[in-house]
Order: sequence, then C-alpha cells, then structure tokens
Amino acid sequence: MASVTFERANDTSRRRGQPRQATAKRLSRPPRPGVVDLAVVLFGLGLGASVALALTAETAAGMKAPGGVAMFIGNLTGLAGTYLALVMILLVSRIPVVERTLGQDGLLAWHRRLAPWPISLIVAHAVFLTIGYAQAAHTGVMHELSTFISSFPGMAIAIAGFGILVVVAVLSIYSVRRRLRRETWWAIHLGMYLAFALAFAHEVVLGPSFVNHPLTQAVWSAAWAATAGVVLVYRFGLPIYRSLHHRLRVVELRPEGEGVTSVILEGRHLDRLPISGGQFFEWRFLKRGLWWQAHPYTVSARPRPPYLRLTVKAVGDHSAALARLEPGTRVAVEGPYGAFTAHARRHQRAALLAGGIGITAARSLLEDLPKRSQPVVVWRVASEAEAALAEEVRQLVSHLGGKLHLLAGSREEFPLEKVVGLVPDLATRDLYVSGPEGFVSGVVGLLRHSGVAEEAIHSEVYAL
Ligand SMILES: Cc1cc2nc3c(=O)[nH]c(=O)nc-3n(C[C@H](O)[C@H](O)[C@H](O)COP(=O)(O)OP(=O)(O)OC[C@H]3O[C@@H](n4cnc5c(N)ncnc54)[C@H](O)[C@@H]3O)c2cc1C
Repeated sequence: MASVTFERANDTSRRRGQPRQATAKRLSRPPRPGVVDLAVVLFGLGLGASVALALTAETAAGMKAPGGVAMFIGNLTGLAGTYLALVMILLVSRIPVVERTLGQDGLLAWHRRLAPWPISLIVAHAVFLTIGYAQAAHTGVMHELSTFISSFPGMAIAIAGFGILVVVAVLSIYSVRRRLRRETWWAIHLGMYLAFALAFAHEVVLGPSFVNHPLTQAVWSAAWAATAGVVLVYRFGLPIYRSLHHRLRVVELRPEGEGVTSVILEGRHLDRLPISGGQFFEWRFLKRGLWWQAHPYTVSARPRPPYLRLTVKAVGDHSAALARLEPGTRVAVEGPYGAFTAHARRHQRAALLAGGIGITAARSLLEDLPKRSQPVVVWRVASEAEAALAEEVRQLVSHLGGKLHLLAGSREEFPLEKVVGLVPDLATRDLYVSGPEGFVSGVVGLLRHSGVAEEAIHSEVYAL
C-alpha cells in the first residue's frame, strides 16, 4: 500500500493508543449474481401465481352475467398491479446482497422502469371494477362510487389510498418532477407507502380471490408483512444501528481545491466496518437545516480507523453547506452501498475514467486494486484548481505501476473520444467510469461502441 494518508492536522488517535492511520481492510462482501437470478425466477413465479389467482376465482357463469367481464378485468389488473407494487418496493428496500450485486443505480433504474406498470394496472382495476359493478346493478358509475364508499368495508380508506397514488404518480412524471426540489419530491414520493398500506385491507377483505380462501389470504398478507419488515429492517433498523455503533462526528474540514472540501469524521469500530473502495453512504449531518436530508457521497479513501473521509464538490445547498460544518457535528449514515468496487473485476488490468468530482470513487477504489492491475487513470477536470486529491491519486497510481492522465481544460479541448482514446488495450481491461451523468453516459456509450464487453464496464453516476 502506498503511504497515502488523510491524517488529521491535529491527530489525537495515538494518545488514545490506537494504531495511527492503519487502513481498515474489511471489504464489503462480494456480489452474488446467483441470488439475483433466483430473485428473477421468484418474480416470474409470483406474477404467474397472481394471474392464476384471478383466473381461478372466475366462473363461466360469472363472466356471462352483466358486468362480469369488466369485473374479471378489474380483479386481474388489481392482483397483478399490487403484486408489481410489492416488487417495486422490494427493489428500493436496500436488501444488502441485491444492492451489492446490482448497485443502487441499477436498482433505481429497474424501479423506474417498472413503476408505470403497477400504477396503470391499479388505475385500470379501479375503473373496470366501478364499471363492472355499475353494469351489474344497472346504475351509473358515479352512483356506484358512492355505494362503494357507503356500503363496502374498508373502501373509503382504499379510495383515499388510490387518490394518494394518483397524485404521487402524476408528480413522478419526469416533466413535473424536475420542477420540484429533489427533497420535496422525495418526501411526497414516500406517500406511495401510505397509499399501499391504506389499500391493503380492502383487497384481502373484498377480493374474490381472497373471500372464503383463508390460505390465500394468509399467504398474501404474509408477503406484504415480509416486505414491510424488509423495508423497516434495511431502510431504518440497520442505518440506525450502524449510526449508533460507529458514532461518527466531524473532526476536520479540509479545503482540497476550488469548491471542493474533504470532511474528516472520527468514529468507533471503523476497523470492523465492511466497506470497499468506490462505495458510498447516504450521509445525514445532524445539525439544524441539514438533519432532515440524506445525500449520497462516496468515501474518498478507505477508512483509517478512527477516521473516515468524504470529499465533496459544492454544487447546491447541501454540498455547499458541508464546507461550513462545525467540528463535533454528529453524523448518521445509511450504507455502505454500491457495486462500483474491485469485486466487479473481470480482468487483471483496469482503467478508471473519472469526470470532475467522480475521482472520489476512483481514488478509494485504487486502494483495493492489486498491483498487477496497472491502472490507467484518465481524469477530466475543468481546471487544475478543481483537481482535488490529485497528489494522492498520483501516488496510488504510481505505486500500482499505472499511469495517470490529468486532462485539465474545457470539454472542447478534451472531448470524451480523447478520454477513451487514452486507454490502451480497451478489450483487456475492466473499465470503471464515474462522475456526472453526461460524462458517464457519454463514456459508457463510446466504450460500448468500441466493442467493450458489457460485463467489463462498471459505472457510478453522481446523480439520481
Ligand atoms: C452514488 C453517488 C455518489 C456520489 N458521490 C459524491 C462525492 O463523492 N462527492 C460529491 O461531491 N458528490 C457526490 N455525489 C453527488 C452528490 O450527491 C450531489 O452533488 C449532492 O447531493 C447535491 O446536493 P445539493 O443540495 O448540494 O445540490 P442540489 O441543489 O440539490 O442539486 C445540484 C445538482 O445535483 C443533483 N443532485 C441533487 N441532489 C442529488 C442527490 N441526492 N444525488 C445525486 N444528485 C443530486 C441535481 O440533479 C443537480 O444537478 C454522488 C452522487 C451519487 C448518486
């Protein structure tokens, strides 16, 4: 290991008898692609079972009766829609083994891809059932709606849940969402959990697949209870446990370059924190004005117990406020997350392509790469002044027998073709790409175009 450290200016760890600046080498566990394959099979089986539930609850006579077809479509879309909603929640529940394998951006991409389906199916469920019941009762749709609310148990609550679902769905449409502050949208988006919780009771109490089928009712309820449990454990329980266990607090702020600051934290038991270079936490700084929002920042070095470091470029409210933190500020964390790690390697050698502050992931990843990886690092920054941590990167690359290309200048001067063109033997290396969205998608596109195998490309986009 090169002698790269991030020791505090005023280090007190020695006085406390702790080893000074020893790198903690407890890596995160490796990804398990087999678990994801199994999850895909289970997903297919679950979807099949949901459709089968709707089919087996139907009879030929029921289909022929007035409103029968509409009611059947309503039940089918309701079951398939709520099943897909359950899967959508599981995708963002941060189950560690899934997260480590697909990465947060991969899971979010699937969550977004899937989202229109449960929402459209649940809307179809509401529309078709209302039409079906109205046809059966030979009445109007509006009259049937008021009958639902006044006569069916749990229906008023379910309709409230449906209203929340529709509002959140409309606000999630990209053209609407981008007008909202990220935090505002995030808070509203949590309403989806409430919507599904409110709608749950009416489904198991009134759904034809559940009425008089206690076993089906029990299995469906258990599936939803297990999903709620997974969310509670991994999104709340584990982060609270980790934060209390490590008791992180800010000990130093260090300017690293134009608009870039390193935040050095001190904590307990960091030698036992399983983390790989390239991973990130959702950080919550517990001070007025910041405690209610968690933002993702990558560790810019492996932990040096008792220290941990993140390096942040000021681009908006939160990132700018970090440069003004006071020493002593307590910090809660969720993570570590991310699949941008040395575990993802397929080849002996590697190349790391970073745009701007994307170097934080590359910098900590370099600490986990073996000597034979001879990494080529191509790093594009707007100016030399923005090249935070350049000396550390230089030392690590030289220790690994690699080469650093620091491209400081405009995008016209250093287009993405030039960034990619500086990597020799593209086909024989793992390509790690990190930084702003435009940089990552552009570079990944060029790599694919050059015929680089998909499994050799690993990326971390610094945007959600
Ligand atoms: C996995 C990951 C790792 C990251 N690592 C680092 C890092 O090591 N150092 C660093 O400086 N930055 C990192 N970022 C980016 C960092 O999270 C955002 O710059 C920061 O959250 C912006 O918040 P803000 O309030 O300062 O800016 P805002 O005013 O909210 O937004 C400014 C810009 O940042 C984008 N943005 C806002 N909030 C987020 C968010 N929570 N996540 C992603 N993008 C957002 C917006 O789309 C906008 O383009 C990382 C992002 C991700 C997803």
